[in-house]
Amino acid sequence: MANAPIPVIAGNWKMNCMHGDGHALANDLAERMLNRYGPPVDVAVCPPLTLLGSVAAFLSATPIKVGAQDCSPLTMGAHTGDVSAEQIANLGAACTIVGHSERRRDHGETDEVVRAKGEAVQRTRMSAIMCIGETDAERNAGKTIEVVTRQLLNSMPETSHAGNLIIAYEPVWAIGTGRTPTLKEIGDVHQHIRDQLFEVLDYDGYSVRILYGGSVTADNCHDILRVPHVNGALVGGASLKIDSFWKIIEAVPKPDEVSAPVRAPA
Ligand code: PEP
Repeated sequence: MANAPIPVIAGNWKMNCMHGDGHALANDLAERMLNRYGPPVDVAVCPPLTLLGSVAAFLSATPIKVGAQDCSPLTMGAHTGDVSAEQIANLGAACTIVGHSERRRDHGETDEVVRAKGEAVQRTRMSAIMCIGETDAERNAGKTIEVVTRQLLNSMPETSHAGNLIIAYEPVWAIGTGRTPTLKEIGDVHQHIRDQLFEVLDYDGYSVRILYGGSVTADNCHDILRVPHVNGALVGGASLKIDSFWKIIEAVPKPDEVSAPVRAPA
């Protein structure tokens, strides 16, 4: 048995927050993090692009990382409205979410597009938080593992390693709905993702953090964060209120509370 990797708790603010409330939230989080004693945890917030630079500058003196919610796969040039990973990294961001189901849904992003975006993120030395997950219809058709495997293998950049890739398993039907899979279902999918990562990345696949996302709250986070191969959470709605986000951070298990067997790649 070996200790699991340091958990990540990442807040996805989506298209929420103006200057005032966004900065107040960042300030409250910074105050609590700077006074925190607890198990190791990597905390990140992903504000909207309008706040990314100022929040990153403000949090640069704290352990809190800042990330973007999307980026262009391109580097620069005549692409009105797009923002490159290089420009995002230049603002001080440490990570960028790619392939969130809301982007796959609203902007028709395919696995190929997500992979190109992930490559762009990793090219800048940021980490890509790559989202995968099945829809309600796919789940009901018994296709969860098939969909998750396809998205994982087709969206994952070849440049991936444990230092620049974080996977977020987010069942689409659980996002913002208050519904979550059972702990066993979460555990089964995370174990499967871990096995796939082993196959592709060999032993490095053991250290890639796999987050669960989808209606994580102050009430359910304790149990979810203790499921084997759940190495943290990607949090939407509950990251917009300091008290609920903080409870999720405080629920992170001690390193010796969660361990997962290292399984040799096939
Ligand atoms: C998300 O959008 O990544 C998410 C997990 O949202 P929520 O926590 O609100 O379900």
